[in-house]
Amino acid sequence: MTWQHVIDAALEQRRAADALRRRCTVEQGTGRWLTMDGRRFLNFSSNDYLGLSQHPAVIRAWQQGAERFGVGSGGSGHVIGHTAAHQALESELADWLGYDRALLFISGFSANQAVISALTGKDDRIVADKLSHASLLEAASLSPAQLRRFAHNDVGQLATLLGKPIGGQQLVVTEGVFSMDGDSAPLRAIADATHQTQAWLMVDDAHGIGVMGEQGRGSCHLHSIKPEILIVTFGKGFGVSGAAVLCSETVADYLLQFARHLIYSTSMPPAQAVALSAALQVIQRADGEGRRQKLAALITRFREGTADLPFKVTDSTSAIQPLIVGDNRRALQLAERLRQQDCLVTAIRPPTVPTGTARLRLTLTAAHEFADIDRLLEVLHAGE
Ligand SMILES: *Cc1c(COP(=O)(O)O)cnc(C)c1O
Repeated sequence: MTWQHVIDAALEQRRAADALRRRCTVEQGTGRWLTMDGRRFLNFSSNDYLGLSQHPAVIRAWQQGAERFGVGSGGSGHVIGHTAAHQALESELADWLGYDRALLFISGFSANQAVISALTGKDDRIVADKLSHASLLEAASLSPAQLRRFAHNDVGQLATLLGKPIGGQQLVVTEGVFSMDGDSAPLRAIADATHQTQAWLMVDDAHGIGVMGEQGRGSCHLHSIKPEILIVTFGKGFGVSGAAVLCSETVADYLLQFARHLIYSTSMPPAQAVALSAALQVIQRADGEGRRQKLAALITRFREGTADLPFKVTDSTSAIQPLIVGDNRRALQLAERLRQQDCLVTAIRPPTVPTGTARLRLTLTAAHEFADIDRLLEVLHAGE
């Protein structure tokens, strides 16, 4: 065996299972429309739930930020990369979400890695929902802490695991809205079970922030809980990219000492922080509220229209509306047929989701029109 053999065999295995991943190259658009291979598609694959990636005020803010600060931050936030733009965004986020502090990260993936590796050590235990995002589970399995996973949203099993003796601390990890099923966690019950012990709760609200709750404050606000650690990301509802950790004063100071992804990595461009502040303004105001209402109406329309389709739907009320097809090849064929009818959807296959649950992961955004939803439903029905 050589390295080349190992790589060829791994690729062959993926190919044989119809699970080889490829990327497509988008020529234009991340919102309602998207152009690829010279063709224009209705886009049902974007996480830009409020359509903010195309918002004129956000685009203008990014341009103005670049004129003031240039395009890059010039270093880690620990050296010279923490600018007035970063500082302003951090305090706006902390005020909005009711925390002492917010710390910016370049991505949700790195925020999750940083927090879990900075907090947990070999005497500790991480208790995570089985369907947690790869960035959380990977960080947890890299940590020297014990990792125990509870069945999806099973608060009883969570409580049992938390009750087992442990030398160190326990960290409970879950999400507000789950990325592959689009369903929500029972956050109130999870917080109660967590806080019946000395454990801390970490909630990743990548898909809820901006979209759920009053003023878009997200899943935790909607369920009236305040986890010790809240992760919000900006690549979805905010329409940009990046992430923040919301926490207490002392946890923020601790992360500034021990979160290696912050210390040894270039901070986000200041212009991006300016754009994110503009996106936050939109989210908090009537414009954002209107977008959330429109999205909710589109979701209702879609779910009503799927009632007589032969696919399983999840109990998602979020913008993520999966149609569970089962078989990998069938999911790919269905995605292809939709594509022929100018609707762009993504087939999600194992190992991203459990074997036998290949699905079309449809995402709706406030940038869609009702006619777009009707068009999608028409193509889905025509195929059966
Ligand atoms: C998308 C996502 C992430 C990763 O965030 P990025 O900013 O895209 O790196 C983390 N957690 C969850 C639950 C996500 O859905």
